Amino acid sequence: MRETDADNPFAKGCGFQDGVYKPIHEVTVSVLDWGFNKSDVTYDVVHVKDGAFFRLGHHLDRFRASMKGLRMSIPYSREEIAEILTECVRKAGLRDAYVAMVTTRGVPAPGTPRKPSLIENRFIAYAVPWVDVISPEIQERGAHLIIARTPRIPSASVDPTIKNYHWGDMIRALFEAEDAGADTAVLLDAEGHVTEGPGFNVFAVIDGVVVSPDRGALEGITRRSVLDLCAELGIPAEIRALTADELREADEVFTSTTAGGVMPCSRVDGRIMGNDRPGPISLKLKEEYWRRHGEGWDTTPVAY
Ligand code: PLP
Repeated sequence: MRETDADNPFAKGCGFQDGVYKPIHEVTVSVLDWGFNKSDVTYDVVHVKDGAFFRLGHHLDRFRASMKGLRMSIPYSREEIAEILTECVRKAGLRDAYVAMVTTRGVPAPGTPRKPSLIENRFIAYAVPWVDVISPEIQERGAHLIIARTPRIPSASVDPTIKNYHWGDMIRALFEAEDAGADTAVLLDAEGHVTEGPGFNVFAVIDGVVVSPDRGALEGITRRSVLDLCAELGIPAEIRALTADELREADEVFTSTTAGGVMPCSRVDGRIMGNDRPGPISLKLKEEYWRRHGEGWDTTPVAY
């Protein structure tokens, strides 16, 4: 018999820190950790749907590449990280979960020189109930996007392919969206090319071709899945530079993320696309994405 939430101290989520599994609210980061006070941190998020991880191997590989890119290391192998994530999900008893792995630079030892290479890095993992970056109701009617005036932080300063918490630009863009009465925003780079949005990659459908930016963005695992689906369905797809005007004038626009999947949009900068509902190619890709989940596409079941 499964425990009820009242019996399970991990029901709201389970974390792993310093070798110990803890209820999520007991997982904390020191104010002295550079991960907190300098955003010197990387992370990755994989989801569990219907009791199985989706594309876990891709997320583990990207997480390890991100740590390498920031010259961080932790005492856990790829397999051990996978085991820790699985145990977090299992302890929380979650069938649908947002599962994160995080490495912070750590807390410098008192009196040591200010050299990041001297700091011992800290690993945290946690599983919490499923999170949608864009709520299911908004996904249903199609998100209203704006193209933010705030530019994306330059890639030469903060590499967007290393998943990070440098969200100053994204938060400004979210305020712009709120002020405009829109749901969310996408950001441009300094040359006016579309990059990504707060927690998602962006796609435009132009004359039947699915296009996603080749710059300024995380190489999303969901974006990878979309490209795989396009190849299977015979839908032409391109990763190339995408201008703001192309996005504004696209036939369809959708976004993609682990925390929500394929998420259609219905308006960009107030312009209504199609009949103010998700477009047919976006919907097809969304349906196919979830259908393939149900078939066990690249899944790793959790043994509860
Ligand atoms: N871009 C940013 C900035 C993100 O934070 C995320 C996911 O959280 C994505 C893109 C989408 O990446 P993925 O599909 O791997 O979740």
